[in-house]
Amino acid sequence: MVQYSIEELHALLISGQIHFKEYYEELFKEIEYQQNRLNAFVTITKNETILNLKKKDFVNMLCGIPYVLKDNYSTKGIKTTASSRMLENYIPVYNAHVVDLLNKQGACLVGKASMDEFAMGSTNQTALTGPVYNPWDRTRIAGGSSGGSAALVASGVVPFSLGSDTGDSIRKPAGFCGVVGFKPTWGRISRYGVIPYASSLDHVGAFTRNVRDMAIVMETLAGHDERDMTSSIKEVPQYLDCLDENIKGIRIAVLKTVSDEVENSIIQDNFNRVVNVLEELGAIVENITMPIELLKAVLPTYTILANSEATSNLACLDGIKYGHRRDGKTIEDTVIHSRTHGFSHQIKSRLILGNLALAYENQERMFMKAQKVRRLIVEELNKIYQSYDIILTPNSGIIAPKVKQVDNQYTYESTILENHLILGNLAGLPSLSLPSGFVDGMPIAVHLMGRIFEEQTVLNVAYALENILGLKNQYSREG
Ligand code: GLN
Repeated sequence: MVQYSIEELHALLISGQIHFKEYYEELFKEIEYQQNRLNAFVTITKNETILNLKKKDFVNMLCGIPYVLKDNYSTKGIKTTASSRMLENYIPVYNAHVVDLLNKQGACLVGKASMDEFAMGSTNQTALTGPVYNPWDRTRIAGGSSGGSAALVASGVVPFSLGSDTGDSIRKPAGFCGVVGFKPTWGRISRYGVIPYASSLDHVGAFTRNVRDMAIVMETLAGHDERDMTSSIKEVPQYLDCLDENIKGIRIAVLKTVSDEVENSIIQDNFNRVVNVLEELGAIVENITMPIELLKAVLPTYTILANSEATSNLACLDGIKYGHRRDGKTIEDTVIHSRTHGFSHQIKSRLILGNLALAYENQERMFMKAQKVRRLIVEELNKIYQSYDIILTPNSGIIAPKVKQVDNQYTYESTILENHLILGNLAGLPSLSLPSGFVDGMPIAVHLMGRIFEEQTVLNVAYALENILGLKNQYSREG
């Protein structure tokens, strides 16, 4: 089966060069094949109404385009499990805002993708339905927590998918799977109907196989929604029409405190090449540093804030108001049994940590202190953005680890290099990971982070780079 980008498939559908129904029959065979290979779906949705689309409907760019959603997006009438036993049988009665937007365009949901349970994790090894494998090499992880969404774009099944990103959960798996991953500014896209993890850090975002497709998806999803009080009223630019590969004079800061940590020489050479390409394209590239103590504080700060917010967000999952129920003799017993059985060990340990940080006697020195450190980190970043448009770093210092190497714990590494992506969440900055090369047949990537609401600059720099690096529309069906 041919793996098309959004733009290619749109052109073929509107000109009638491919037959929609036949395309979908082929696609569902492909989905079955890839599900056996990757285990990336929680639910496959064979939506028959899509077969009634007419040629004239295809004027909308996303009409007839197949896509998948991470399984934390509420879908009316379709199971939404967040890959947890707690929501194993949950069928929402409403759609997330972005799902309504995509439906309006005629985009075709073909399934709900596996994720780390409640989006907590970096490996996609913690899903109730089992691990997700990397399409380039199935002995390796796809990364998480949006691993299913990344793997299904990287294997060519769909040209785009949605994920969510609280610490790195779109950009990390995008880098490991060789696709473009982008989370725009906090507040740029409504999160209404997305099962929350940590509200001050959660972002809706997407995976595509090229930057133009990303501009299309972002333009469709961005904008105000009165049902999400954190969504911005700022006007949405026409990201696709405004894409511009002329990046002369754009000011790019190479964050050496992170990039100097790379030990793998091929990843280091690849990063240097990207820096050279940017200079050749006329960007002004300069080296900068950040205080190492602040970068070392990123993970602990995030851990306290994310787990505290999760504790509050997941409190309603008690078997009485919502979620998996195990009856006990008293109401309290029922809550205890339901939560004990519904959440896996790693979620429970995070909730214990969150409760600890929020406890009256600890609040000041844990939760409040983490908020203060977050402020210091954001102020440091703001200083950098007074002089630069983009902060450039390697996406990660490693290729996707082997499944055997990672346990089901919180993360597999706790170095600055593996955790700097969290900066984009602490400060809510538009952040994109772009494929930049290969090491031992596995994709690697660079990471671009822009000023708030300057998605266009991030997309433009990525677009210019992509044109030179020649890594667009990659996928792997056989690895
Ligand atoms: N790995 C981080 C965590 O486990 C980030 C997860 C995410 O972005 N959803 O919290």
